[in-house]
Amino acid sequence: MQQNPDRIRLSEQPFRSLSPAVQRASTVVFDSLADFARRKERQPDGFSYGITGTPIARELESRVAALEGGGHCIVTPSGASALFLTIMGFVRGGDHLLVSASCYGSLKTFATKWLAEFGVDVELFAPESGAEIEAMLRPNTRMICLEAPGTVTMEMADIPAVVEVARRRGVLTMMDNTWASPLAFRPLDVGVDFSIEAATKYFGGHSDLLAGTVSMRDFAHYATLRETQSILGQQTSPDDCFLILRGLETFKLRFEAQAASALRVASWLNAHPAVDEVLFPALPGSRGHAIWQRDFRGHGCLLSIVLQPAPEAAFEAFFDTLRMFVIGASWGGVHSLAAYYPAPLQRDRAFPLTDRAIVRLSIGLEDCDALIADLDTALQAFDRTRA
Ligand SMILES: *Cc1c(COP(=O)(O)O)cnc(C)c1O
Repeated sequence: MQQNPDRIRLSEQPFRSLSPAVQRASTVVFDSLADFARRKERQPDGFSYGITGTPIARELESRVAALEGGGHCIVTPSGASALFLTIMGFVRGGDHLLVSASCYGSLKTFATKWLAEFGVDVELFAPESGAEIEAMLRPNTRMICLEAPGTVTMEMADIPAVVEVARRRGVLTMMDNTWASPLAFRPLDVGVDFSIEAATKYFGGHSDLLAGTVSMRDFAHYATLRETQSILGQQTSPDDCFLILRGLETFKLRFEAQAASALRVASWLNAHPAVDEVLFPALPGSRGHAIWQRDFRGHGCLLSIVLQPAPEAAFEAFFDTLRMFVIGASWGGVHSLAAYYPAPLQRDRAFPLTDRAIVRLSIGLEDCDALIADLDTALQAFDRTRA
């Protein structure tokens, strides 16, 4: 076949995809020995080895930083690693660390088991704390770890009041903001130093990846955390960064639709006789609602319920009757999930909210009437087994 001599060679044709390029790399290539020798000078933003990041990680970080209203962001391989990274960057043996008693479980375990053994003085505080936290501060208090609403039990802290005290006393603050996401609350706007999201949840949105983000305004903090990230080997796969960027394209729509359904489900559950309490600060009349209303401009799709006292078999009947809700941990994806937190877990906690089992529901994008019908059937099974 005759070749057209004027035809542009394929490799010389311009090509621009609408989607971001995924460049995989452990090795980053340098043009000269001089460039290689100076590679550390490229930090905190540049590329020198896979562990310091790839272009798509930087693209994701700048998107999240913009959402959070911060100048800088670091993407990490999980939400848990984002929490640990932030502590490892700034907390040392001999420091005093304050951790909310209802913060994410593995952060609490990391603090009370690992950090305490490394000589950090770890102290849990009441999840609904505000300005009274000042009485707990010591000269060596380094950081306060916040989460609102709290994991599983959904207590609301008075974040602005805690931050006011912390800033005045020179203590760093970090907040796990996964429930609200930056669409409903921006911790950096009220002066929190580090805003942390489990990107596993809303940003990814499809229950198929793990990632986390730490966002901040202070450049020196950012440089410290970038170094900490590479020393600890906490880089995120470029393919996962791609999936999160794709998730972010529909994030706002998913967030709003799932939030609207979650509020409907919460109101319906609140009126159901088998339900003792709905833990969902966006619900009028619920615990923490006043603070939520004052500080947040939206809410997540995750809610907890305390059912009427019942034997274990009634909970089994409830869960095993569910058809649309899938039984599983995590949340924030397009599929609705149900998870169970047994009573001993609550009872053994510092500052317990209840000594009963908690059922946690993540509301997805399914038809809301069908989700409510599913819960209705499961609660009937619960009641039959309870009676
Ligand atoms: C899921 C979750 C985390 C941990 O995220 P992973 O990516 O699963 O490690 C941290 N905080 C909150 C509030 C979460 O819901």
